[in-house]
Amino acid sequence: MTLRPLHHAYGDRVEDIPLTASDGTELGLCRIAPEDGSADRPAVLVLHGLTASADMFTLPETRNLTDVLLDAGYEPWLLDWRGSCRLPYNEGRVRYTFDDVALYDIPEAVSLVRKRIGNRQLLVVAHCIGAMCLSLSMAAGLVPGLAGVVAQGVFLTPKMSWKTRARLHFGGELLRSRLVNIPTDFKKVGMWSKHSLIFAEVSLGAECKDPNCQILQNDSWGVGGSLFVHDHLDDATHDRLAYLYGTVPMWILPHLRSIELAHTVMRYNDADGRYDALPKNALDNAGKFETPLLLLSGSDNRFWYDSNQLCREVLSRRYPEMDVRYVEVPGYGHLDTFIGRNAALDVFGHIVDFLDECRSAGTPV
Ligand SMILES: [Zn+2]
Repeated sequence: MTLRPLHHAYGDRVEDIPLTASDGTELGLCRIAPEDGSADRPAVLVLHGLTASADMFTLPETRNLTDVLLDAGYEPWLLDWRGSCRLPYNEGRVRYTFDDVALYDIPEAVSLVRKRIGNRQLLVVAHCIGAMCLSLSMAAGLVPGLAGVVAQGVFLTPKMSWKTRARLHFGGELLRSRLVNIPTDFKKVGMWSKHSLIFAEVSLGAECKDPNCQILQNDSWGVGGSLFVHDHLDDATHDRLAYLYGTVPMWILPHLRSIELAHTVMRYNDADGRYDALPKNALDNAGKFETPLLLLSGSDNRFWYDSNQLCREVLSRRYPEMDVRYVEVPGYGHLDTFIGRNAALDVFGHIVDFLDECRSAGTPV
């Protein structure tokens, strides 16, 4: 298995830690050592979204989340779970579901980090489907004792537009019968491949001429919606979009569809006893959450819309004792909350304020 090297500007301060999940899947995990060599900082495990990777948190061209966490006194740990584009699994025919991420990748990464940090606090910042999978791990009680969790874009209550829902449920099935996956990189497609129709479709009405940008920003892999506010990206980030976001596996769609239909995170594998540790419905088990929770979203998220605002309302109503907050970042979409050139100014302060609060509250580990 080849893990694509992390693109970063931290020199030899990046420590790669071998991690193979107990089902035999090799993953990626690294720790970014603080410049001052301190070894007593709270650790923050950062989780990317589907088809992205830890690269979205180390962009050298902007002040990125890792920079901000280091400057704020934290020790960042970056996990590449099996949906990462630094790993080969999205390209292949060996299938996984989000159950595998919730059952193996996240709890086993948390366990490994804990072995290294001892009794220091551990917090988590999770994006998109990384956050959805984390919610299932938490509902299963597989990651107890986290000192705080930040979930960006979506968490326990996914909600999409009607257009995206329709395309996911009907068009997605049609695509799934014809394609194993949809690449983000137009160079991998070629003019006359079976994928070229999708690139033609996502170019309709697009202001930007870059096909790799169109498939993310103008039509989200052909299922509708938009993944970022175009003007928020640095030019260098814009030119690297196909490096930052990889191939979408079509075989993941049935699980995503079951989650979307239920408007909550659902276990997919019912017939395989290995997954019995996961609850069927994560929301019904959220009462056991003891971790303070910050739900974050751009006000202009045109993929998950107001999913996280809804999540706060649902959790507060169902579990009034739960420490759950919601922060909306004006003018931001989805991915730009992390890869936007001004995210350090507009977004990361909310994350650090929350982590600082959790840290000083001293939630026992
Ligand atoms: Zn563009």
